[in-house]
This record gives sequence, C-alpha cells and structure tokens, in this order.
Amino acid sequence: MAIFLSQIAVVKASTWFTARKLILSTPRRHELVRRSMASNRASAAETTRFDFLVIGGGSGGLAGARRAAELGANTAVIESHKLGGTCVNVGCVPKKVMWNAAVHAEYLHDHSDYGFATEKVHFSWETLKAKRDAYVSRLNHIYRNNLDKAKIETIQGFARFTDDPEPTVEVNGRKLTAPHILIATGGQPSVLSDEEVPGWSGLRSYLVIVGAGYIAVEMAGILATLGSKTSLVIRQTGVLRNFDAFISANCTKELQNNGIDLWKNSQVKSVSKTDKGLEVTIVTKDPEKNDEKISTIEEVECLLWAIGRQPNTSGLNIGSMGLDTDERGHIIADEFQNTSRPGIYAVGDVCGKALLTPVAIAAGRKLAHRLFEGKKDSKLDYSSIPTVVFSHPPIGTVGPTEEEAVKSHGKENVKIYKTSFTPMYHAITSRRSPCIMKLVCVGKEEKVVGLHMQGLGCDEMLQGFAVAIKMGATKADFDNTVAIHPTSSEEFVTMR
Ligand SMILES: Cc1cc2nc3c(=O)[nH]c(=O)nc-3n(C[C@H](O)[C@H](O)[C@H](O)COP(=O)(O)OP(=O)(O)OC[C@H]3O[C@@H](n4cnc5c(N)ncnc54)[C@H](O)[C@@H]3O)c2cc1C
Repeated sequence: MAIFLSQIAVVKASTWFTARKLILSTPRRHELVRRSMASNRASAAETTRFDFLVIGGGSGGLAGARRAAELGANTAVIESHKLGGTCVNVGCVPKKVMWNAAVHAEYLHDHSDYGFATEKVHFSWETLKAKRDAYVSRLNHIYRNNLDKAKIETIQGFARFTDDPEPTVEVNGRKLTAPHILIATGGQPSVLSDEEVPGWSGLRSYLVIVGAGYIAVEMAGILATLGSKTSLVIRQTGVLRNFDAFISANCTKELQNNGIDLWKNSQVKSVSKTDKGLEVTIVTKDPEKNDEKISTIEEVECLLWAIGRQPNTSGLNIGSMGLDTDERGHIIADEFQNTSRPGIYAVGDVCGKALLTPVAIAAGRKLAHRLFEGKKDSKLDYSSIPTVVFSHPPIGTVGPTEEEAVKSHGKENVKIYKTSFTPMYHAITSRRSPCIMKLVCVGKEEKVVGLHMQGLGCDEMLQGFAVAIKMGATKADFDNTVAIHPTSSEEFVTMR
C-alpha cells in the first residue's frame, strides 16, 4: 500500500474548472545517496553523546523523541529532509487537503438539488495548491518549534551508522552516539525500472494511475472528482483486495460510478513519449480465456505509480549493526520495538507493519515510556487498528474481514450482519451513492471483532466504534445503545 508520489500532475480541464500541475514533493532518493556519500568522508571527529538518538523526524521519530525529552532524556533528532516526514509533507496531510477539495466538488453537484444556484463556480488549482503548501510549511515550522521548546537537538542531515564498536551514527562528519538509538526512517515509493517498463525512466508527468491499494484508490478518486479524466490500471478484478470482499467489490464499483476508467486484469507494458504526451501500453489478460490483449492509452499527461513502498534503509549502513531484516528489507523489531541489536530500536514504516501515522506515533511514545520511565511492559497493541480510506465515498474499517474471521474462528462461530442503504443526504439529490455496512461477530456472545463500511461520513464514524470494539463490545452492547436519528451510523445499532 504505497505510492510513487514524487510528482502528481492533474491536467485535464473539466466543465467547470481546470486543474493544473501539482507537485507534492521531489524524489529524495538521489539526495539521500549524495548525503550518504558525503558522510563517508567524515573525519574521526569527537563523538557527541545523548541519552536518546532518533534517526528520522517523521511521525514515529518525532513522537518518540518528544515523549523521551518530556521524560527527561537528552535527545537529538536527525532528519535528512523536512520535519514531519511522509505524513506531513507528501502523505496524509496534503492528501487530506486535496480530498477535502474533491468533496467540495462532489457537493457542488448537489447544490441545485438543495436549492442553491451555482452556475458560475470557478475552481483555482493554484489557490488550493498555494494554501495546501503553506499549511504544510506551517506544520514544518511548528514541528521545529516544538523540538526547540522541548530542548531536543535537531540535526539536519543524512544519518549513517559507522563501523565503531559502540553503535555510532555519523551526520555531516559529526559522530553521535547514545545508549538508545531509534531508527524511524520510514519508507519510500517503489519505482519500476526501465527494464520492467521500457520508456518509463526519465518521464516526469503523470495521469494514468497504476495500483489497487488505498493510495491508488484515493488518488484516482481525488483526481477524477476534481474533473480529470482518470484511468486506473489494476492487476486483478478489484481494488483493495486485502480489505473485506464486501468493501473491495463496492469500492471497485464506486470508482467506475465516479467515471474512472478501470483497466482490470491489466499491467503497464511500456511507456513512450510522443509530442502529444505519453503513450501507455497496457497488457490485459483474460483469466478465463487465457488470452492477452494489448491496448494503448494515448495523450497521457501524467502517470502515477502507486504500487507499494519500500523501507528507507539504503545508505543507513544497518548491515554494520547486524540488524535482522525481512525479505523486503524492513527492519525486524519485536513487540517492544527492539531490533536484533541491543540498544537499537525501530518504529513506523521502516518495520513494514501497519503503515499508518498513528501507529508510528503510538509505537514511538510507548517505547519512550519503556526506556525512560521504567515502564517495562510499555508496548503498542497492534490489534484492532482502525483505518480510513479517503475514497469517494470514504471507507472505514477495523478488525478482521469476514474471510479472516472465518479462517481463524470457523464458519460456524462467525455471524455476519450487513446492510446497504441510501443515506438520507441523497434522498433529494440526483447523485446517489449507497452506504454499505458490515459487522463481523464471533462466538456465542457475538463479540464484534470487525466493522467495515463505505459511505458518506464513514471516515468520521469509525473512531468511536473502534473504541467499542477495542473494549470488547458485543452485538448486544451495540443493540442496547440508543440510535441517533437521522444518521447513517444508527444502522450499526439497529442491524438484525
Ligand atoms: C500518499 C500517502 C498517503 C498517506 N495517507 C495516510 C493517512 O491518511 N493516514 C495515515 O495514518 N497514514 C497515511 N500514510 C502513511 C503515513 O504517512 C506513514 O505511515 C507515516 O508517515 C510513517 O511514519 P514514520 O515515522 O515511520 O516515517 P516517515 O514519516 O516517512 O518519516 C521518516 C523520516 O526519516 C527521514 N530519513 C530517512 N532516512 C534518513 C536518514 N538516513 N537520516 C536522516 N533522516 C532520514 C525521512 O526524510 C523522513 O522524514 C500515507 C502515506 C502516503 C505515502
């Protein structure tokens, strides 16, 4: 579930506005490698000692560092790029601003049904982009101020482990060490090589989206809703294949309802550049007939790969620390975030587990309490982590899917409740989008372990239900809760 989000360009004019080039970030890979080479030239300078040394000023690193400092640890954070990491600079935050804009666009379609005359609506991509980027810059400054206020030393530069016997990190020729070193370096987009997709390397504008994970779905939804002609290329028949099948099927249908041109069972074969833009050649396999069809999407102005992310460990020299990694290069950390080398810990995306900002934050904080407050059992419980996909309409999900519950508890011990309805908001709109909901209950007491939904408002609906599920609520507890009317969420406490 990740993305090549180095550049996104939205190019096609809609009937009521034009979306222009949007650059979320520039690739950091080359910069990281350059910095790593520079640090190789470092002299054997004096080593500065801290109590806690954090590599990576993203969600997990900042949270862990600030909590450690609050608990009295002399802490430093090393960041090679911008404070805030993926979430603030190229992930959750800019994405949500754009999603909010797309939601505005959706509501515009309904204005006349609600009695508003909106013929002369004009959308300025430049305004949105400027405001979004200013907000991100504000956050960068806030993070820096917060570190300063907490008396955490911020070190700008690329960190690399040295070969010293004591775990030591080198940044811009300066050596740093601590009894506790946290690796929170996150991840970076997976990119296909020129051999894999001939013609791809060097092209830097995008429009077709490749991938079936949540980021591909979100980006396709945002761009299409804002008026771009958007094609989504997926390898199988549906998106979000690791979600509940009910959600996967509905979301796939909704993408098509939103006008997204969905290329199922397809992969990008090659990309070539013409004077009219890119030509993306797609190979589509018919799984039943076992034959292949080659098609070309022409005049493509932007191509966005959202095909996965990989851990940010290159150049860090973790090999010299002897850290265990999995087959994809993620650092293996136990439930207490310990790596295989005592005194070195890892949190967040670099560990490859539940790649979400609040997970990285919570793991970083729990670790700080364990190391600097003597709370020996302090660790993150990775079960029942709620997550939202900012699709159109949004998806909320927590706990196992129906398939997973059946696999672990047996079909006879799983009871499913589900419903599908039109939210009241759409009662008077010509645009209609259903809301679908599912509860996965297990055992005689019908403990609610899974909750899956897609529909208007599901993004904000989930958190409260996630608390109930974490507390072990049963279907009877849901039923005993008086409904809030008229809402969509009331369906969860009235399901039969
Ligand atoms: C497009 C997109 C949308 C997303 N949307 C959501 C969402 O809606 N909700 C959600 O919960 N999550 C979302 N995520 C996931 C979320 O952004 C990540 O899970 C989260 O940022 C992980 O935090 P982290 O601390 O592990 O890593 P990061 O936030 O990636 O921080 C790592 C930091 O380490 C720095 N670094 C790397 N190597 C070095 C080095 N050697 N020396 C110094 N610094 C280094 C990097 O520059 C970076 O700043 C999204 C991700 C993407 C890509």
